[in-house]
Amino acid sequence: MTTFNDLGLAAPILEALAEEGYDAPTPIQAQAIPPLLQGRDLIGIAQTGTGKTAAFALPILDRLRDRRPPPRRACRALVLSPTRELASQIAGSFRTYGRHLGLRVATVFGGVGHQPQVAALARGVDILVATPGRLIDHLTGRTAFLEAVEMFVLDEADQMLDMGFIQPIRRIVSALPEKRQTLLFSATMPQAIATLADEMLKDPVRVAVAPVASTAEKVEQRVVHVAQGDKRMLLAKLLKGEAGGRTLVFVRTKHGADRVVRQLEADGIAANAIHGNRSQGQREAALRQFRDGAVPVLVATDIAARGIDVEGVTHVINMDLPNVPEQYVHRIGRTARAGAGGVAISFCSVEERPLLRDIERLIRRTLPAEGPPAPPAASPKPHRSAPRSATPAARGGTHGPQRPARYGSPAGDGRHALAGLPFMAAARRA
Ligand code: AMP
Repeated sequence: MTTFNDLGLAAPILEALAEEGYDAPTPIQAQAIPPLLQGRDLIGIAQTGTGKTAAFALPILDRLRDRRPPPRRACRALVLSPTRELASQIAGSFRTYGRHLGLRVATVFGGVGHQPQVAALARGVDILVATPGRLIDHLTGRTAFLEAVEMFVLDEADQMLDMGFIQPIRRIVSALPEKRQTLLFSATMPQAIATLADEMLKDPVRVAVAPVASTAEKVEQRVVHVAQGDKRMLLAKLLKGEAGGRTLVFVRTKHGADRVVRQLEADGIAANAIHGNRSQGQREAALRQFRDGAVPVLVATDIAARGIDVEGVTHVINMDLPNVPEQYVHRIGRTARAGAGGVAISFCSVEERPLLRDIERLIRRTLPAEGPPAPPAASPKPHRSAPRSATPAARGGTHGPQRPARYGSPAGDGRHALAGLPFMAAARRA
């Protein structure tokens, strides 16, 4: 088995890794670090959870050991990240792995004041981790310069494109020196990313780990068929029972996230929401309380949760199924990290069944299901892009024919979300 020592990293970095308890490199690290130490460009096909941050951070730190001072308002390594959370986490990783090197790490992202960032950049930094929009503000305001960048990382490139960052990225790349080392990481490789990679990288090494769908294998998954209007009660029941650990609840919209938090609070369950409309302070507080267990229920939208890395997430609950099946795999990948067990429970209303079919096709398996049997062929089958609010169940009004009977006592065997419900008893008798 390869060790970090074999990869050729310097002693102060090895020391920090040992302190972190990292025994051996992950596959993406073992493949990426040697060519990166040689100065090669690299395309890494890997998602969060594979150890990709260290795969780029360690060789960058190794190169920065020469301690050449960065020019004022400039940086030697630039990492672009799609979200503020991911940017903070990446900066934290650089600080952790580089703790014996005494390098300067700064972050630049929106939602917080400009001035502290200007001050942090003023003397120059070794590593700058930025989101594209705010970095462009600094370039325009001439409070940051990219002429001294030696290493450039574009992280989560597919997510960047989904979020409409393609033009800002091109603009940033055009401000970089020609002579540089470039790294691009992406969970998927659609044509638009391949084109971008062609523009940005020179003779890159390609490394790929576990295609998206295979992550799903580590997580114990099941589906609960439930009427839209009963999801709230089911969620509360799970959180008071089986999912009482550290649970991430996914919803489709920001408003949905706030609503779920209010409903949970009304049901006596403390929860925080994390989504794009919350301030940086609110997001950080929510993440901190989630990490330290003070508020172990976090309700998130897909974008806000992308890249969040919290250890020990015991359950992922999909209150709404995602419209894009790959997002399902990203969501459930928040649990069962680093070989630990994890459970993913997906609520599926009648109108979400086409989405469930798409997910099952992607992960190439049928998920075990609880709840009422499949609807008769004559049932409504909206197109996947149909507005969900158009369905009676989503409006909370009359329910369709599959609506299960009312909940019985909250007791149950604790194993199945719907145990103790009248229709489950009927199903068992059947
Ligand atoms: P990432 O894919 O970069 O988000 O990393 C996922 C998680 O794996 C993070 O919590 C890292 O601290 C952890 N990690 C990264 N590399 C290793 C390693 N070689 N051994 C153990 N844990 C690791």
